[in-house]
Amino acid sequence: MDSREAAMHIERLIKFALKKGLIEELDVIPSRNALMDLFKIEKPYEGEVSEEELESPSPILNKLLDYAVQIGLIEDTVTYRDLMDARIMGLLMPRESEVVKKFNTIASEKGIEKATEYFYKLSQASNYIRMDRTSQNLYWRTPTEYGSLEITINLSKPEKDPKEIEAAKKIPQSGYPKCLLCIENVGFAGNLNHPARQNLRIIPVKVAGEQWYFQYSPYVYYNEHCILLHESHIPMKISEKTFVRLFDFIEQFPHYFMGSNGDLPIVGGSILSHEHFQGG
Ligand SMILES: [Zn+2]
Repeated sequence: MDSREAAMHIERLIKFALKKGLIEELDVIPSRNALMDLFKIEKPYEGEVSEEELESPSPILNKLLDYAVQIGLIEDTVTYRDLMDARIMGLLMPRESEVVKKFNTIASEKGIEKATEYFYKLSQASNYIRMDRTSQNLYWRTPTEYGSLEITINLSKPEKDPKEIEAAKKIPQSGYPKCLLCIENVGFAGNLNHPARQNLRIIPVKVAGEQWYFQYSPYVYYNEHCILLHESHIPMKISEKTFVRLFDFIEQFPHYFMGSNGDLPIVGGSILSHEHFQGG
């Protein structure tokens, strides 16, 4: 692929970002410049770019990732490609404060359901939720004496390359962010041990008088799988307060449920070091 073709894919991506509301018309020139800088392209594409209806940016990102490998920006492994595509989309994201402002405006004018709809679509368009992967998850329903049970097999968490596992061992652990749920993940560039989150945005919510944050799960085990996380990196603990928090949340988000994996490793919770709930 030559730089002209890469520049054409940049135009496709800008069109996608405009259509999905990640950027606005006035953002086109600076976004193009930022992408050209990332890919070391000197001249924008000047030809026609055909209209397309894409659900996810991944077909365009895959082309740009191939180009990034070709010009030596990244190695050709799943982890490096995942770090790079978040970096690319990060250049097309509205700022954290803009997302929060828009979410709150929609919530007050049209209701909380419309606000979460906006935020879920944003989380997909930004490729934070990798729709090309999550669509590989297997779902089925089984009738049981307690009602219909939905079973999911998650296939969207990427497998690491053995070479990367080796390389990851050699990276000193910085301890920042402390875990995958800490608020410091917003905009984080990631490394071999920690996913890139330039395309993550979170919504502050007051729950039971405390500061919590709302986001979607990148692996969406079910529709609109969301996470409510505490502002501080404090361990999971089930107590009377748990129920106050859960009920306070569903009063504010009545179209969602919210629950806990519990604070014991045997019941399925994978991040016990950070107080959080899961809903949808
Ligand atoms: Zn944490």
